[in-house]
Amino acid sequence: MADWRTRSLWLSRGPYEPAPPLDGDLDVDVVIVGGGFTGLWTAIHLKQADPSVDVAVLEQCVAGYGASGRNGGFAMTMVGRNLHDLVRKVGPARARATRLAMRGTLREMGAFVRDEGIDAHLTRPGLLTVSNGPEQDERIRQDLEASQRLGLDDLRYLSGPECRALVAGERIRCGHFEEEALLLDPAALTRGLRDAAVRLGVRVFESTPVHALGLPGTHVLARTPGGDVRADRALLATNAYAHAVPALRRWLFTIVASIIVTEPLTGEQWKRAGWAGGAGVEDKRIMPHFHRPTPDGRILWGGRDAPFAPSGPDPRQDRSPHVFRRLEETFRWTFPQLDDVRIDRGWCGPVAGTVNCFAHAGRLGRGRRVVYALGYAGHGVGPSHLTAKIARDLLLDRESELLDLPMAAKRPVPLPPGPLRGLVLNGSQRVLQRADDGDRGPLTGLALRFLQ
Ligand SMILES: Cc1cc2nc3c(=O)[nH]c(=O)nc-3n(C[C@H](O)[C@H](O)[C@H](O)COP(=O)(O)OP(=O)(O)OC[C@H]3O[C@@H](n4cnc5c(N)ncnc54)[C@H](O)[C@@H]3O)c2cc1C
Repeated sequence: MADWRTRSLWLSRGPYEPAPPLDGDLDVDVVIVGGGFTGLWTAIHLKQADPSVDVAVLEQCVAGYGASGRNGGFAMTMVGRNLHDLVRKVGPARARATRLAMRGTLREMGAFVRDEGIDAHLTRPGLLTVSNGPEQDERIRQDLEASQRLGLDDLRYLSGPECRALVAGERIRCGHFEEEALLLDPAALTRGLRDAAVRLGVRVFESTPVHALGLPGTHVLARTPGGDVRADRALLATNAYAHAVPALRRWLFTIVASIIVTEPLTGEQWKRAGWAGGAGVEDKRIMPHFHRPTPDGRILWGGRDAPFAPSGPDPRQDRSPHVFRRLEETFRWTFPQLDDVRIDRGWCGPVAGTVNCFAHAGRLGRGRRVVYALGYAGHGVGPSHLTAKIARDLLLDRESELLDLPMAAKRPVPLPPGPLRGLVLNGSQRVLQRADDGDRGPLTGLALRFLQ
């Protein structure tokens, strides 16, 4: 994994000195497996709650090697697919509580980054969600209605011309705008979180893969090539890599998400893009596209195809020329006025999905010693901060109202076993893709209603 810098544009940049691997045995209160957003935020929340808790983070490669160093850098209030869907799945009271908690979380993230002096290029230009077709108009309407019904009023309707005043996509029909959303450089944030955790007294070991996690007697034992870590409690914050754990694989699946970026645009090309204010933009396909300006003046374009990886994460899936080509097609379709802008590169990353489309945090195995927090699919940058607080409360055995949020209170929905698993996952993805590609046939419609 020495080539971690090639895994995304974000990871390729800046000087970074990985922490040394674990060398010898260690005794701690809490061992955290995984140095992405979930693992690092949990370490920080634990230390902030109780500075005397001894915490170690074990990361198989470098902090941010997983999805946290490869994503689009949109930190949104959204938990799950969208607000309308969340209400349907968890009811209005929990959906409202989740949304309010997420609004608080984004503000806390912003304050933490500022107070710790983390140079993560964090901005708050808002999120513009747009419709490019009649079905998408309907989804815009449903979210606005859900926001109003819950008394949130945090989404503002924008007509086509109002949207196009923010970004010059001539096919945009209407949209909604949310002010709370942040844009950031995800690898810079992960690295900054690692350093902040270390300043709080957390011990971080990189290049330290955990080969086995056992429960011998009254403690947890994490085995690594350089030594064993004995702990009172453990957190599995390994996202898609949790595929290796059969009990989690029952309800967790791996999908591979992709991004392409252009070369830096000239001032004149930015004028043609008509991107006043630099908001993050997402469309309302079922498997949406998202795009944003990067701090060095490129357009980042991602989403759409997200194939299942039946055997879990595999570095060979970190590049997919076929998916990059399809992404470029929709980039060109959206911005015909930028036909002279070249695509510079693309990358992919594994994420863990769940049937509920939001992450779950809970306890695993006998006793209360092993906690997991994972399964955000493509919406984890913001939600990982909140889910990490739930993980903290589970690890510290603290009663808290956060445990009533869906991530902790809703049980994960199991997938069918054996060969049926692949059939269901591949079949559902084909249905979603066909619906997004405009198939209005009765079979696709029926299957879509069933899935939803
Ligand atoms: C291309 C792409 C675009 C995305 N865009 C967005 C976006 O714009 N907004 C958004 O909200 N979300 C987005 N996401 C999703 C988001 O990145 C994830 O939900 C989030 O980063 C999950 O963080 P995590 O810490 O749970 O997992 P990860 O970042 O995957 O961290 C897990 C870590 O565990 C480590 N690990 C695994 N196994 C072991 C082991 N045995 N021993 C030690 N360490 C181990 C891995 O190396 C990894 O660093 C995107 C994801 C991708 C891939």
